[in-house]
Amino acid sequence: MAATTDTRIIANGRVWTGSPGAVAAGDGIAVQPLAIAAQRGRIAAVGAMSELQRKFPDAVVFDAGGRLVTPGLIDCHTHIVHAGNRAGEFARRLAGESYQSIARSGGGILSTVRATRAASLQQLVDSALPRVDALLADGVTTLEIKSGYGLDLETEQRMLQAARTIAQQRALTVTTTYLGAHTIPPEYAQDAEGYVVRLCTELIPVIAASGLADAFDAYCESVAFTPEQVGRIFEAARAHRLPVKLHADQLSNLHGAALAARHGALSADHLEYTDAAGVDALAAAGTVAVLLPGAYYFLRETQRPPVAALRRAGVPMAVATDCNPGTSPLSSILAAMNLAAVEFGLGVGECLAGVTRHAARALGVQDATGSLEPGKWCDLAIWNVEQPAELVHNLGARPLHRRFWHGQPGE
Ligand SMILES: [Zn+2]
Repeated sequence: MAATTDTRIIANGRVWTGSPGAVAAGDGIAVQPLAIAAQRGRIAAVGAMSELQRKFPDAVVFDAGGRLVTPGLIDCHTHIVHAGNRAGEFARRLAGESYQSIARSGGGILSTVRATRAASLQQLVDSALPRVDALLADGVTTLEIKSGYGLDLETEQRMLQAARTIAQQRALTVTTTYLGAHTIPPEYAQDAEGYVVRLCTELIPVIAASGLADAFDAYCESVAFTPEQVGRIFEAARAHRLPVKLHADQLSNLHGAALAARHGALSADHLEYTDAAGVDALAAAGTVAVLLPGAYYFLRETQRPPVAALRRAGVPMAVATDCNPGTSPLSSILAAMNLAAVEFGLGVGECLAGVTRHAARALGVQDATGSLEPGKWCDLAIWNVEQPAELVHNLGARPLHRRFWHGQPGE
């Protein structure tokens, strides 16, 4: 959706800008009485209302009514476009079966692959929109969407087109990720090497040339691709100018974090089994650690990501829903923040930075959004809460008052 060209001032807010200085040590969160001026969708100035009214006398004023204002939230890891339903597998897991066992028996990702291959573009869009709308109602203004349930060229392209279509039908920014190395496609069950070669020589070049993907992602795990295979696949992706991301160290330590860092990845995601060397590698490379507490919760995992070590090393931590039909059927970024706090021990400021500034960096869009600073898009959320901690504390609340995307008020 296109933003209009008027000038607007969001006045009378208690603002957490999300800029690096806005999270003090010890989790103090600096909230200031500020106004925000937007022109042509971008933030023109942040300051005192009297000053902004002098600068922009013709601006339309929106009164935030003394409410908390934050950057629009960013869900930087989702599989929100998919078909099918895996609630039956949930019942099997409740009965004691493991995720790996279900995957080996044709369930897991492969059951979603079958359903997604059979779905039209329209069906993919229509089934995703209610989940997208749930995120918008949580104040999300930027959403990452992965492919990876087609694993053939046509379906992967259709999934990415569905993601682009969602961006046209809703007031939000969508970044797309080609998850070509999600799992071995059924056609290549006995020939993983054949798929890796095809991915590198045919699929990645075609998808990169199509412009449908903003990044490339892989799943490094015993049920997916080996570190050696991921290394070759990443080289192909980077040769075609696709920034890379990695599902790393979720169920075992295959040193995926270090692998991602070696390839200059935007992010390494999951990280439950990442060791000290992996943490150091992320810190040195500036790779964002994306924590996905929804998958940890739904899979009843017990191994937590090394949050204290990541914090000590200064690795930026993002938090995302991992919204997917099997291991994290979660379409609330606020609930993901709560899970990150309760299950992983993040503080309030870390949760907020994790769904704003750090999430933007995980997508490579930190110059465009993720904090309320001049030059960035005026993407923000206005909340019916007294203090920022309520956004993390109140599970299941619906605290959003109003969402602005590119300077325009939404629902
Ligand atoms: Zn994922």
